[in-house]
Amino acid sequence: MRMVFIGPPGAGKGTQAERLIAAHKMAHLSTGDMLRAARDAKTPLGLKANEYMSAGALVPDAIIIDLIAERLKQPDCRGGYLLDGFPRTIAQAEALDAMLAAAGTPLDVVLELAVPEDELFRRLAGRGRADDNPEVIRQRLVAYRNQTAPLLDYYWGKGLLKSVDGLGTVEEIFGRIEAALAAVW
Ligand code: AMP
Repeated sequence: MRMVFIGPPGAGKGTQAERLIAAHKMAHLSTGDMLRAARDAKTPLGLKANEYMSAGALVPDAIIIDLIAERLKQPDCRGGYLLDGFPRTIAQAEALDAMLAAAGTPLDVVLELAVPEDELFRRLAGRGRADDNPEVIRQRLVAYRNQTAPLLDYYWGKGLLKSVDGLGTVEEIFGRIEAALAAVW
């Protein structure tokens, strides 16, 4: 299964992604995790990316597209993968489509984890990560609304989108995700 997992910051994507990985054989490709690792290792890419991350802005498409193109070439991706936090812009989605079309390995499904904005703000404010101060949170939600939410229409148009209600317990939400994916495996 090659899937994209889309949801606003604070929707619980990371938690649900861990569950999916544990239950099914898929590589977990989180661009946020890759960028944080690069930042902590103080690589040039990581330090550059951190200028954007710390402001709640998206890292430029060219950086992210190169990062994911390299990652998708790794052997663990052959058995399927879950893209978590990528693509986040239409340009990234188009680049991904082109890469996957060239390889003859199209996406199977795009899963949206839907959570209302007021609930997201509440959750993020309680999380305590460095990029979780109120102004940065606001910027990240704005980036989602303006740059990432348009992907929902994009993938809907391709017949790939499934939406799951992200309110409830971790168990309830995981059950909904598994039900939505049942027809795809
Ligand atoms: P995340 O852990 O997915 O919320 O990502 C944390 C931060 O990394 C985001 O707020 C962005 O600054 C950056 N980032 C992660 N993935 C992407 C992406 N696909 N495009 C641009 N920026 C990204």
